[in-house]
Amino acid sequence: MDTATKAYLISVGTVELQGLTPQGPASTAGPSAGEGSVFFKSGDRIVRLTVAPSRLRLVFEGEEHLILEGDRVVARGHLVEPLLHCPDQAYITVSERCIYDCRFCAVPKLMGPTKSKEKVIEMVRRAAMTGRLKAISLTSGVEVSPEHEVERIAEIARALKTFNVPIGISVCPTERSNEILRRAGAVEVKYNLETLDPDIFQTVCPGLSFEDIKNALADAVGVFGINRVFTNVIVGLGESDRVLLQGIDELTEMGVMPVLRAVYPHPLRIADLEMRRPSAERILRLAEHLRRALDRNGLRGDLPLTMCYPCTGCDLIPHRDL
Ligand code: SF4
Repeated sequence: MDTATKAYLISVGTVELQGLTPQGPASTAGPSAGEGSVFFKSGDRIVRLTVAPSRLRLVFEGEEHLILEGDRVVARGHLVEPLLHCPDQAYITVSERCIYDCRFCAVPKLMGPTKSKEKVIEMVRRAAMTGRLKAISLTSGVEVSPEHEVERIAEIARALKTFNVPIGISVCPTERSNEILRRAGAVEVKYNLETLDPDIFQTVCPGLSFEDIKNALADAVGVFGINRVFTNVIVGLGESDRVLLQGIDELTEMGVMPVLRAVYPHPLRIADLEMRRPSAERILRLAEHLRRALDRNGLRGDLPLTMCYPCTGCDLIPHRDL
């Protein structure tokens, strides 16, 4: 699968299975929470597709898996078994619920359970027994308050240090989250801006502050270092390319690495917001811009240890995919 083919598969985002079953439990994190998915590897590249009605079909033929569109073979490869949510990582959503109501996100609609520290430790212990565990990534909705969530995640991270793998944490930031998470043993953090357009942010993330998240990201670079701080940026919420390109430049100059994520119009959210999956050309163009911006600022997409940059399932990752 070349870069353009991966961009095309990401732009579609979904696949139907023929004679196959989804791998592992449904995702519990973020915009695509509740949906089953597959990880498809072809050559050096890997892509995660949501299992849903689609123009793409996944079949097993001979010795390999094929992704088909009509009669055309789009890509040949094989399915990769996720460890916990993604290959080689235990990526765990601690609170599957949220007091906020970001318009694109399924978590507040699903209002799932909150995992105890003991439950998370047990999940990681089982993942470690496979011999494939390379990193632990923790994410969480906000059960009570951002401060409460950071303390809870920090306590869990402290307990996970015994597994001796890098720990990355993605939460809603607070004034002290960088210091608290660093002391708890995290080596990387992700605070999601979700959109680089402040006006769209106000509409889609009511109750959250664009400026506070940006300030927390800037501080995080001082605490965690370069190649260690990330922010999810959803593409397809109505933002212009001009705002995206400027925002990518600004973040990378701060030492922050954006994760450019094609919007997933979740069935529970399509009535709430207009979401348009970006085209393959747009995905490719933005990823190329991101790669140039990382290069200019001495950042590397192949150096992060946890969360989405090493996984590469959902995005075109500079220095890995292109
Ligand atoms: S890229 Fe990130 S969100 Fe996508 S599967 Fe991998 S870890 Fe999960």
